[in-house]
Amino acid sequence: MKRAEAIDGLRAGETLDLLVIGGGATGLGTALDAAARGHRVALVEAHDFAKGTSSRSTKLVHGGVRYLRQGNLSLVREALRERGRLARNAPHLVHPMAFVIPAYKWWDTPFYGIGLKLYDALAGKLGLGRSRMLGRDETLARIPTIAPAGLRGGVLYLDGQFDDARLAVDLARTAWDRGALLANQLRAVSLIKEGGKVAGAELRDAETGAEFGVRARVVVNATGVFVDELRRADQAGAAGIVTVSQGVHLVLPKRFLPGDAAIMVPKTEDGRVMFAVPWHERVVVGTTDTPLAAASIEPRALPEELDFLLHHARRYLAGDPAGSDVLSVFAGLRPLVRSGDGTDTAAMSRDHTVLVSESGLITVTGGKWTTYRRMGEDVIDRAEQVGGLDRRPCVTAELPILAPPQGAADPSRLPGPAEVAWFARHEMARTVEDVLARRTRCLLLDAAAAARHAREVAQALAGTLGRDEAWVADQADSFRQLAEGYRFPPAG
Ligand SMILES: Cc1cc2nc3c(=O)[nH]c(=O)nc-3n(C[C@H](O)[C@H](O)[C@H](O)COP(=O)(O)OP(=O)(O)OC[C@H]3O[C@@H](n4cnc5c(N)ncnc54)[C@H](O)[C@@H]3O)c2cc1C
Repeated sequence: MKRAEAIDGLRAGETLDLLVIGGGATGLGTALDAAARGHRVALVEAHDFAKGTSSRSTKLVHGGVRYLRQGNLSLVREALRERGRLARNAPHLVHPMAFVIPAYKWWDTPFYGIGLKLYDALAGKLGLGRSRMLGRDETLARIPTIAPAGLRGGVLYLDGQFDDARLAVDLARTAWDRGALLANQLRAVSLIKEGGKVAGAELRDAETGAEFGVRARVVVNATGVFVDELRRADQAGAAGIVTVSQGVHLVLPKRFLPGDAAIMVPKTEDGRVMFAVPWHERVVVGTTDTPLAAASIEPRALPEELDFLLHHARRYLAGDPAGSDVLSVFAGLRPLVRSGDGTDTAAMSRDHTVLVSESGLITVTGGKWTTYRRMGEDVIDRAEQVGGLDRRPCVTAELPILAPPQGAADPSRLPGPAEVAWFARHEMARTVEDVLARRTRCLLLDAAAAARHAREVAQALAGTLGRDEAWVADQADSFRQLAEGYRFPPAG
């Protein structure tokens, strides 16, 4: 994947079949679907692949036990099918994780036990393993950290765990391999219209400031919580469709949750779902659900969210974790979809939404990482109609996702110069943040350690990208500042 090649391709003046705006799970899934069908597609991302919500998830490939409780079985079945497909198509990224639901009320075990049998059944042949009810002793053996007083037993079930930002980069590489043009640090600043129809977008290169237009038969708005900005660029005064809800995670050392199993609390005192999940010798505790007035690309946890998470971490984990134990805090924004205004042809499908505006702009948002492939399929089915493209069958259900070559960096370790150079040459890493937050997960695993490594990474990147000493100093400084926002309590 070479950024300069992508920019040259985009500037060549060709009219593409599709231009996808936004390089998170949704945009990447859409671009890959289009490329795999043989359409000529480009994707532009304003920051970096998965810089938005897609690098800040709980990292579960799941059917959504929450939807099961709401009785939305078709949604659960579809997500479970996608979970199985992803496990098959990206075995290097997805592995089964055992979750234990501790039961303190006598009806909890049969209630969740039966529900999870249904979950197994809905997964069918694509299941990851069977759920089962646990006695009190086995529950404590699996999760020795939970309070024994009043514990009656538990339920064990399996879901998948994956690395969200790594999947994003591997999807980008797979799409590139199929002929898609992809570039990060390239923002769509406005839409090109012809005869009232969207015919492309004006792009701005964040590295050079250069602006140029790209024409396409169909433009897809896959900008996550920012979809309304482009919808308004398409149609002044268009009604907003997204409200934003923030979810925060704390990362703690592994000693607070020894063992291999994760904890799932289906209903906290205030009715939320909570997870404590082992991840790279750490434990990730989350999440919150806080409505926000506006979206930002670098959201920060609020003090009440930190209190809530620490309070629950103390309840279910060993050794009373304190703020000083927190290695990292990360926040992500969920786009919650309201219905559109009357000018859209609405297709409220599943838990994602695909809208086509009067000018033909396709907006896709909602859903979850687990269902990114299905979202891409729905968008391209729709795009073929809207843009009069050749109708071709979707092939991503069985399409293997490229794994990094043998010996690629371990995402949990600070990368050496050779690995940094590799990320820059082959995975479009352009900044220290790209390397330490997404090509590896160092920022999320230990924000202070990542900050200490910033200068070294900047130097290794500068060697490959041909940057000078001033760039190195600037990169190291801005990464250190960013990392302050991932410390406990976050600065800024
Ligand atoms: C706290 C939390 C936990 C979650 N946990 C899970 C989980 O465990 N499992 C699961 O399946 N799902 C989970 N999800 C849901 C999942 O993360 C999201 O559904 C998914 O990441 C959304 O991807 P997206 O591509 O739509 O948005 P984003 O990832 O936000 O991507 C949008 C991109 O568009 C770019 N962009 C914006 N404007 C422009 C422009 N003008 N030009 C170019 N680019 C632009 C942004 O920079 C951004 O990278 C979770 C979500 C949250 C918030």
